[in-house]
Amino acid sequence: MNLVDCVQRIALEQPDKIAYHFGGSDTTYKEFDQLINRFAAGLHELGVNKGDHVAFLLGNTPHYLISLYATMKIGAVAIPINPMYTQDEISYIIENGDVNAVIALDSLLPLVKAGVKLFPGIKAYIICETTPDLEGKFNALSNEVKKKAYLFSAIAASSPRNESVEIKEDDVAIILYTSGTTGVPKGAMLTHNNLYSNARDVAQFFKMTKDDRVIATLPLFHVFALTVVVNAPLFQGASVLLAPRFSPGEIYELAGSQKATVFAGVPTMFNFLYQYEGNTDNFSELRLAISGGAPLPVQVLYNFEEKFKMRVSEGYGLSEASPVTCFNPPERERKAGSIGTSIPHVENKVVDEKGVELPHGEVGELIVRGPNVMEGYYKMPEETASTIRNGWLYTGDLAKQDDEGYFYIVDRKKDMISVGGFKVYPREVEEVLFTHPDVIEAAVVGYPDENLGEAVHAFVVAGKPDTTALDLQQYCGEHLVKYKVPSVIRFLEELPKSSTGKVLRRSLKEIE
Ligand code: AMP
Repeated sequence: MNLVDCVQRIALEQPDKIAYHFGGSDTTYKEFDQLINRFAAGLHELGVNKGDHVAFLLGNTPHYLISLYATMKIGAVAIPINPMYTQDEISYIIENGDVNAVIALDSLLPLVKAGVKLFPGIKAYIICETTPDLEGKFNALSNEVKKKAYLFSAIAASSPRNESVEIKEDDVAIILYTSGTTGVPKGAMLTHNNLYSNARDVAQFFKMTKDDRVIATLPLFHVFALTVVVNAPLFQGASVLLAPRFSPGEIYELAGSQKATVFAGVPTMFNFLYQYEGNTDNFSELRLAISGGAPLPVQVLYNFEEKFKMRVSEGYGLSEASPVTCFNPPERERKAGSIGTSIPHVENKVVDEKGVELPHGEVGELIVRGPNVMEGYYKMPEETASTIRNGWLYTGDLAKQDDEGYFYIVDRKKDMISVGGFKVYPREVEEVLFTHPDVIEAAVVGYPDENLGEAVHAFVVAGKPDTTALDLQQYCGEHLVKYKVPSVIRFLEELPKSSTGKVLRRSLKEIE
């Protein structure tokens, strides 16, 4: 079984069920399956074959869903890339990932033109029509570019082929570039079985049914969205509600008009949804709110749950694990600040430096084993060998486990601050700052310090202009031992974050 077969089966069993909703119109499973077949045939005609690498520079539109499932169907490998990346970042992935074809948003035409010169090995660029004036721009392309450029709609109108490509469960389906714990971006190779098993296990863990309607506003190029709001709902025959960008007002509107039942977001989204001052009644039909990708501050969880009278289930994952390893179980207690328990078929363990399991309550590295763990990093055997040892994936995250099997992420190993030899986990200090009524957001980083080695610095987005560093330091002093209290607190309009909601600590360190 693979995910493409699942969609095909659902198209036969419930052809008229909505697979996805986008921009006011619905596409049924039958139509989706046909689009996949046509687009897959079109890719073949362009010379894209089993094992070829297809880069996606796409947003949250149907183009992404069709491209992904068609690429998987012909046994080619999808490489989703954040379309907001700079040319240098994209070029790195295209080169490192040995890309043979590109599917891109029309807003990226200038990059396509540059790509034709820079990467002569790329066979085809498929351009998605998202703006009305594309045809004119397309016709104005030079002949050199035109030779390799195609409109998405033309490829999606190809005649379906009869013969199918054999796909094995350990064939690579997707390569996701992740900065991992250190160094340059690495391509995590996920197989068809990795994706299938994680989609199945997430769908079953959350008891998704074909009646679920899942809001897809998380960026689809990221692994959290890939499994939780795309593959898991499609595995179960549910409907994906595509939201091209995150704006609280639009999310509430979509939730109301489409009677959404599941929302999944990164912690910042929960914070923005809570802070929104307009009408928020439309979350009434939601049965499930899922947070992941970064730590959900306990105060944000409480605020959201109180306002919407619903439970938020926080979980954890990483690109290398397709991504989900843990979630707060829907039927058991949800523990604030915890990433929950292991999902079915996946084992999580907290170990010491030598890889020996630690007793409950002790902090060590979280390691993971299961059918969701990647094949390895593309063309990086040494990094693979140091990340996957004896069948366990070393996550680079520090965690502890309680007696009931719930895990808690303490911090990333590399973010730990050492103040004169004392360990400070930024997250612990951030959690305290978040409970201060004037703090909207907070991030803590370690700065080099002549005397102590490192010092704790905090960056805060304040809700009131007259909040002072001294106020917050005094407040922290009431809740934390002295060496954990930030020696410097600076105020920012907003925190630098990745598009997947992670605070960019490196950018904060560069501020001074
Ligand atoms: P990515 O590969 O981009 O999905 O990033 C994975 C990393 O995100 C993990 O290694 C963690 O450091 C972080 N992460 C994901 N979920 C959580 C969570 N619930 N709490 C804390 N950190 C998280």
